[in-house]
Amino acid sequence: MSSLLCGLIGTGIGASLSPSLHMAEGRHHGLDYRYRILDLVELGLGVEDLPALFERVRGEGYRGLNITHPCKQRIIGLLDELSPEASRLGAVNTVLFDGDRAIGHNTDWSGFRRSLDRGLPDVRVERVVQLGAGGAGAAVGYATLDRGARDLTIVDADPVRAGQLVETLGTHFTDRRVSVGSPDRLARLLADADGLVHATPMGMAEHPGMALPAELLRPDLWVAEVVYRPVETELVRTARAAGARVLTGTGMTLYQAVAAFEIFTGIAPDVERMAAYMDTL
Ligand code: NAD
Repeated sequence: MSSLLCGLIGTGIGASLSPSLHMAEGRHHGLDYRYRILDLVELGLGVEDLPALFERVRGEGYRGLNITHPCKQRIIGLLDELSPEASRLGAVNTVLFDGDRAIGHNTDWSGFRRSLDRGLPDVRVERVVQLGAGGAGAAVGYATLDRGARDLTIVDADPVRAGQLVETLGTHFTDRRVSVGSPDRLARLLADADGLVHATPMGMAEHPGMALPAELLRPDLWVAEVVYRPVETELVRTARAAGARVLTGTGMTLYQAVAAFEIFTGIAPDVERMAAYMDTL
């Protein structure tokens, strides 16, 4: 049985589903697959200790790492190579140790893209409003444009962040309209939109509520949520009640893990099995 060691670096990741999800699928492929949580806080480390932790892990024979908040940008300076998308997004959530080279990938954007394709295959994506311009926002904005959105408006409580993301995305999708929207124009923006992508932390246990008024939701506005803990966020419940087609955040979580598993092991996992297993967690 071939053995494989991988891990997840970030903070507040003790309850992550990744170890169970990766290891259960690994067992089905006859792998002795260990996947460890490397929580900076639990290890008594700060983000400034990331280079030392990274070198330690590299020396311990890890095959790969998933990287999450707050390290997705900081890890880049430690890597030897980036995939084209990780380079464009300036964010890495998956690292493969290939011989003595550390290669960074981004499976967040492809995870969201695949989730959109699977969960909302036939919706119109001409005009989309996206709430949230942080790390998740960068990945899902890229995916929405990749899916074919012609007009993407990014709205964030922090206009500087929204502006930075608009600039980055606009550089890579020069034939589209990518713009900053003001939060106080949200009603007008959504009235003209086909869909809403939600990428702020609102709806998580520590950020209860919704980032927009319920009355802006309507049956012909699809809604894609990225928050996945809980799965049934207030936005998901309210949008469904309004008759909208809704994509929960679990698809992005599942498909980023599917892609990372394949990068680490070189084996295409059984997606339906991983999805079914995730439902049990
Ligand atoms: P972040 O802190 O990097 O960015 C959040 C952004 O939202 C910030 O720019 C902030 O200004 C903005 N914001 C907050 N409240 C707002 C409001 N009410 N209106 C407008 N803008 C607001 O966070 P992140 O890393 O991008 O994560 C966002 C969420 O996405 C988290 O809940 C995270 O768990 C989730 N996420 C899900 C997946 C997945 O696979 N499903 C992957 C990554 C992140």
